[in-house]
Amino acid sequence: MSLTLTDKTALVTGGSRGIGRSIALTLAEYGADVVITYSSSADAANEVKKEIEAAGSRAKALQADAVSLKKAEEVINGIVEDWGKLDILVNNAGITKDNLILRMSEEQWDQVIDVNLKSVFNYSKAAAKPMMRNRGGSIINISSVVGLAGNAGQSNYAASKAGIVGFTKSYAKELASRNIRANVVAPGYILTEMTDELSDDLLEKIKEDTPLGRAGDAEEVASAVAFLASDLSSYITGDVLRVDGGMAM
Ligand code: NAP
Repeated sequence: MSLTLTDKTALVTGGSRGIGRSIALTLAEYGADVVITYSSSADAANEVKKEIEAAGSRAKALQADAVSLKKAEEVINGIVEDWGKLDILVNNAGITKDNLILRMSEEQWDQVIDVNLKSVFNYSKAAAKPMMRNRGGSIINISSVVGLAGNAGQSNYAASKAGIVGFTKSYAKELASRNIRANVVAPGYILTEMTDELSDDLLEKIKEDTPLGRAGDAEEVASAVAFLASDLSSYITGDVLRVDGGMAM
């Protein structure tokens, strides 16, 4: 059996840039119609939409703050109204607001938990009923190795990403009887705008700590997501797949 997503519809949150963009394009290359959401990068999101259409799939780019449950319901109901069903949900939208715990503001804590973790609840909850009606679905939540191992200066981010793991396993248990699978992908250090800010010294240290000896590409995360979205992974649910060059083993 080869990997195909023909006739599948997919939603990728935060699909305008970085890992989300790669995931959206990869799902389209395998045949899925893809909706992406974004926060403020309208031009970048419209470029991704055009690239998906150039690959022969249907596409939409929607501005939708991932923190709003109401917006998540609107986005998913719109997909079901227009395209009939939702097969694949990728909760990818995420931010960092790094600081040591002693200096971290309440706002930095709340923003990261809201954008990274509450968003996963919002979209997964909104997807549940349509996926039940569709007699199945696959949800892939993007966590991080930082959620598995912790990281000094990223307690808010680590808590949000660890929370995603617990949420996903609970969701997988609640909805397995409805043929809805939910899995986590935990990337290591992937070259995107999020990691652009890292100093050369820190990047060198990361390479030293990574058995494969390099940072990863967004496409390498997207391949893992496509596998979990497809029927090739039909007996896998509640799992955490690290895409980290061996960093957190
Ligand atoms: P990125 O390049 O900064 O892109 C973030 C994406 O999320 C953008 O599309 C952004 O939209 C969207 N977004 C941010 N806040 C949002 C909100 N409130 N509502 C809707 N969309 C929002 O980040 P990335 O490196 O690709 O990371 C993607 C995911 O992978 C994140 O969950 C991140 O935590 C995770 N991750 C990344 C790495 C890494 O090394 N890069 C490692 C592990 C895990 P706009 O373009 O409109 O701002």
